[in-house]
Amino acid sequence: MKKRYVYPFSDGDGHDKKLLGGKGANLCQMTQIGINVPPGFVITTEACLDYLQGNQLPSGLLVAVRNEISKLEAATNKTFGTGPNPLLVSVRSGSALSMPGMMDTILNLGLNDETLTGLIQQTGDERFVYDAYRRFIQLFGKVALGIGDEKFDEHFEAVKSRVGVKVDVGLEASHLKEISEKFLDVVHHETGEEFPQDVMMQLQRAVEAVFRSWRGKRAIAYRREFQITPDMANGTAANIQTMVFGNMGNDCATGVGFSRNPGTGENEMYGEYLTNAQGEDVVAGIRTPNPLQQMENEMPSQFAQLVELQTKLEAHFQEVQDYEFTIEKGTLYCLQTRNGKMNAAAMVKTSVDMYREKLISKRQALLRIDPEFLEQLLHPRLDPSSTIKPIAQGLPASPGAASGKCIFDADLAEKLGKSGEQVILVREETRPDDIHGFFAAQGILTSRGGKTSHAAVVARGMGKPCVAGAEGINVDISLRQAKVGSRIIHEGDIITLDGASGEVFPGAIPTIEPHFSDELTVLLGWADEAADMKVMANADTPDAARKAREYGAMGIGLCRTERMFNARDRLPIVIDMILADTREDRKAALNKLLPIQRADFIELFSVMSPDPVTVRLLDPPMHEFLPTEQQLIDQIETLRMYRNVVKGRQTAIAALATPPPLPEPFRELNEELVDDVLSKKVQMLGKVRELREINPMLGHRGVRLGITYPEIYAMQIRAILEAAMECAENGIEVRPEIMVPQVITSQELLHVKKTVDRLVDQLETEFGKKLRFTFGTMIETVRACTRARRLAEIAEFFSFGTNDLTQATFSFSREDAENKFLPMYNDSGILQDNPFEVLDIQGLGQLIEMAVQQGREGREGLKIGICGEQGGHPESIRFCHHIGLDYVSCSGPRVPVARLAVANSKLREKEYVVPGRIPA
Ligand code: ADP
Ligand code: MG
Ligand code: MG
Repeated sequence: MKKRYVYPFSDGDGHDKKLLGGKGANLCQMTQIGINVPPGFVITTEACLDYLQGNQLPSGLLVAVRNEISKLEAATNKTFGTGPNPLLVSVRSGSALSMPGMMDTILNLGLNDETLTGLIQQTGDERFVYDAYRRFIQLFGKVALGIGDEKFDEHFEAVKSRVGVKVDVGLEASHLKEISEKFLDVVHHETGEEFPQDVMMQLQRAVEAVFRSWRGKRAIAYRREFQITPDMANGTAANIQTMVFGNMGNDCATGVGFSRNPGTGENEMYGEYLTNAQGEDVVAGIRTPNPLQQMENEMPSQFAQLVELQTKLEAHFQEVQDYEFTIEKGTLYCLQTRNGKMNAAAMVKTSVDMYREKLISKRQALLRIDPEFLEQLLHPRLDPSSTIKPIAQGLPASPGAASGKCIFDADLAEKLGKSGEQVILVREETRPDDIHGFFAAQGILTSRGGKTSHAAVVARGMGKPCVAGAEGINVDISLRQAKVGSRIIHEGDIITLDGASGEVFPGAIPTIEPHFSDELTVLLGWADEAADMKVMANADTPDAARKAREYGAMGIGLCRTERMFNARDRLPIVIDMILADTREDRKAALNKLLPIQRADFIELFSVMSPDPVTVRLLDPPMHEFLPTEQQLIDQIETLRMYRNVVKGRQTAIAALATPPPLPEPFRELNEELVDDVLSKKVQMLGKVRELREINPMLGHRGVRLGITYPEIYAMQIRAILEAAMECAENGIEVRPEIMVPQVITSQELLHVKKTVDRLVDQLETEFGKKLRFTFGTMIETVRACTRARRLAEIAEFFSFGTNDLTQATFSFSREDAENKFLPMYNDSGILQDNPFEVLDIQGLGQLIEMAVQQGREGREGLKIGICGEQGGHPESIRFCHHIGLDYVSCSGPRVPVARLAVANSKLREKEYVVPGRIPA
């Protein structure tokens, strides 16, 4: 069958945006539901592609176009290119997706010497006709003939300044006539040819120019930037439409509107118009337009038409509309409509409102919002109107924005923070003993480390903004300053971080605070009802758990106990535990930790009651709790020198007949004391050297640590179980889940399980009460995936730890990847995404799918979830839903995003195709 290239608005399939373009398709829809649209037709995107391929308009196209023009002539009672009532048209581009950078619209096409005279006679308005003419010549000259705007503007401005007017409405017919003639000269001068008199030739060249603009530099760059594939939009359509005139006098106008306020979502008139103006005048800022509300007084009956138009549009498209209109001699025409782009707050509000107005279903209310969009609502953002330029760029490690004084150590940050100052903790990199500084700071900035650096992970957990690895910043602690290029930031100077972009700014930029609106609560409630997968939070402390609850978490999917070890009052005990040379010494330290951990768990379980709390047993290698070797070497050297000073002082004092009174601290500080400290440090250094590993992340950690030092896991398991028992005693319903990290074989699980069983027996006998808990494993090694069936015979749940599992699958470490080559891999398209943020469905996805299937073979109804960062990413969640996971767990602030994503996954499961796989 021969392709059909041309569709009148009354006949085109308004749902086929790929064929007709967004603008054309919507013009068809509006025409067909009886909205007042100037008649016209669409030339398809296929015609565009064929033109670009063959370098000429496809055969038969011009005949079809001529034919449609004849129909327009009949419908409007006008004639094209001739006669006393001439037909003028616009030629407008439009592809499936709106795309700035394609060609401008040509208005008033069809004017030549003959129709110019006809139109003047017909309207009796010479000024209007020359105004239309000069616009046409310029637009046609620019778009179809490639003549720069400035060639025309120069003459236009010259006439304006000679006449002494600022705006175009001040010009009279004679001036506009003069300008038109000058413009014709410009065309002649620039192209060596006369301006075409043949209107079909005008039309043909305009259409060709529209089609060519698809291959324009700006359009191509735009498509690349926004990853618009031919599958999404291929070629542009050309829309030919009868002109209506907003510039025929004061009963005419042109304007743009939104059916609701796109800033707030409020259901109110929103937009602007200009009387006696045409086309782009409103947006071009030629005169200051009036708010639409003003029309109610100025043109009441047209205002009523506008209200009716909005209502019709929303009812039909079931979406907030962004439309263009023109009023010609009192009659309103709609020239374009499309779905309105709004901010997240407005999207949420309009979803809830439109459902309540019975305009859309709950399903639509949920699906029309991209879950990722909600992120905007959950963190403070920088005021978008700020024009301050960043001074450094790091990794966007934890979203949100904050300003404060630059402070270079955690102690000072804590001190200032406590006295109510806003501070940003700035470090080369952070360590567990900086944690009190995190609590006090508004945001964290490091010059080293990636998105899983200590700073990044801890900041994300706390929901504080963090920029990590800003390598352009040179922190010099001794001078208490940082250098950024030639600029010096002194301690106490104010800076601003944008954790969503990774930018660092000088000075304070105002932020917009997040706001969990009533509408968002309602919407997410609907999401929970629609979903069949749970959303849990990764939370390590009772505070984080409370926050997660506010975000709607349905439990804790990952509590990393080592975070509890890092708190200031515990770290010394943990260090004692690590330094212990005998099992007895180690047990003594652990006995001190036990009540502390138990108390943490009691609080955590109570906050989440009655929902599950998955506690992961100790995971990181032990040396992470100790200072680095170099730090210790430096300290030891300093202490040795200091010992000599102390010694010298003692000798001096002894030699004096009447020793001077010393300040308090010095009286106590004798040689023995310093020796004591020194020997501790030396011991610690020995331990650090003993614990040193070539590849700590692949070394002595996780369950391997738990098996070689069984008393550590025993203490933690006891703390969990005793906490659960105590809660149960107090009538608090709790569901602890004990999770073992880094497992590679069922033997490891059996080993730990034995300890669990022994302790459960003990406690149950002691309290005469049954404990309710589950025992499971994290799946974060490749071997665990391949042994899933066997593991599931022991584990009651699996949780995919997709950070380590991604590292294991790719065989590169996250830090090195993100700091060294991953950005380049992403830029050049070698890897599409950062696999630590977006689940690698094609590779890792296969492993996970296999493990899920085999795990469920090993144990019917095995509970399975994911607790890596990808668990909060909508596309990754869709895959998790597709393969039947029971829950996702993500950082607290991502929970709302995940709740909506989980609902979307369920609602759109039928149409889901695993990326990279051929649909069945
Ligand atoms: P864009 O996609 O850049 O908005 P449009 O094709 O919508 O370009 O056209 C630019 C301007 O010209 C708009 O203000 C539009 O309303 C106006 N316009 C387009 N066609 C006509 C027409 N047939 N009659 C009157 N105004 C028109
Ligand atoms: Mg438009
Ligand atoms: Mg891990």
